[in-house]
Amino acid sequence: MELPKKWYNILADLPRDLDPPLNPITKDPINPKDLEVIFAKELVKQEMSKEKYIKIPKDVLEAYEKIGRPTPLKRAKNLEKFLKTPTKIYYKAEAYTATGSHKINTALAQAYYNKKEGVEKITTETGAGQWGSALALACCFFDIDLKVFMVRSSYFQKPYRKTIIETFGAKIYPSPSTVTKFGKEILKKDGDHPGTLGIAISEALELVLEDENAKYCLGSVLNHVLMHQTVIGQEVKEQFKEIEENPDTLIGCVGGGSNFAGFMFPFFNDGKEFIAVEPKPVPTITKGDYRYDYGDTAGMTPLLKMFTLGKDFQVPRLHAGGLRYHGMAPLISLLVKEGFIKPKTYEQKEVFEAALIFAKTEGIIPAPESAYAIKAAIDEALKKEDKTIAFNLSGHGLLDLQGYQDFLDGKLS
Ligand SMILES: *Cc1c(COP(=O)(O)O)cnc(C)c1O
Repeated sequence: MELPKKWYNILADLPRDLDPPLNPITKDPINPKDLEVIFAKELVKQEMSKEKYIKIPKDVLEAYEKIGRPTPLKRAKNLEKFLKTPTKIYYKAEAYTATGSHKINTALAQAYYNKKEGVEKITTETGAGQWGSALALACCFFDIDLKVFMVRSSYFQKPYRKTIIETFGAKIYPSPSTVTKFGKEILKKDGDHPGTLGIAISEALELVLEDENAKYCLGSVLNHVLMHQTVIGQEVKEQFKEIEENPDTLIGCVGGGSNFAGFMFPFFNDGKEFIAVEPKPVPTITKGDYRYDYGDTAGMTPLLKMFTLGKDFQVPRLHAGGLRYHGMAPLISLLVKEGFIKPKTYEQKEVFEAALIFAKTEGIIPAPESAYAIKAAIDEALKKEDKTIAFNLSGHGLLDLQGYQDFLDGKLS
């Protein structure tokens, strides 16, 4: 199978226009020039573009091949047998990329454009560490300095993510950290603060605003990030064509919305059922408000119209670190609001039970985040309908074994 040569931009096909991002100070629709202080110019252009397809640069395509694209689409036959279901279950194995999740798809694109524009340093945040690992490899390939702020609770829970990030030559700090004003302020109030993605984003942005040669990269939420992920769904479409199958239902987990968007956007006009799954304790699209909010905790990002629990939401500790975010991609939010995507929530424990069933039947230990999609797929298959479902296995869980150990020891709350 050949790699897709273009990214699909769903902005060309939306049922209505997205509400524009607002300047955090004036509250007016943002001027692209303001965004160029933070992001590479080409990425700002892509963020606003309504062109249906955007060509993937040759260097990025080569890098996609290097990290393992196209990834396999597999049928979960053992799982079907275990569930005694007539439903056919397929999964897209983003777990098979070099850094173990879908995040590398946008990391390579973002590093490439930054390099092309002469950017010397990049800062970013990371939750469970998948984004930090992916961007570290991408910055290593394209020779850019990288600083990563990793949510403190995950930093200590998943120490080998730090090893990966340092192996690829990037610097990493637990967030809240002592290298930014905002981090120090929070640590003064609570020296044991577990951190959140919102705080880590604020810290990464603070460094960029102080340094002309630095830019910021985000691993989810924004339009251009979701667009880069559409290589996933385009491959899936092609792979289903090759086996002369057609999925009825597409399922994915949502933290900021990027893996699910990449998986389902290319099917948007095909009359499928779309199910997005999130943790019950972080019920962004099931219980959040649809309104303008900041993407970070300090209030430095543009205001985005999205489902949000509020930027100061006390995000509970969860093993699915990538799903601990107060907001949701404006594009996914709009499609939930308009009824195109069905939201669903599950508790952590039932999700780990599903993860173990998948591990034992299919032989892959899934990322705790992906396990939310697996749980929904299992429930869907247990309806025992004669249909075909597919879920996105956004990553593997080989660096999340503490979560599995806690579950096996009966210590999971
Ligand atoms: C980051 C991450 C997620 C959540 O982020 P999205 O932007 O919603 O995809 C889900 N699964 C894995 C494996 C991740 O690394």
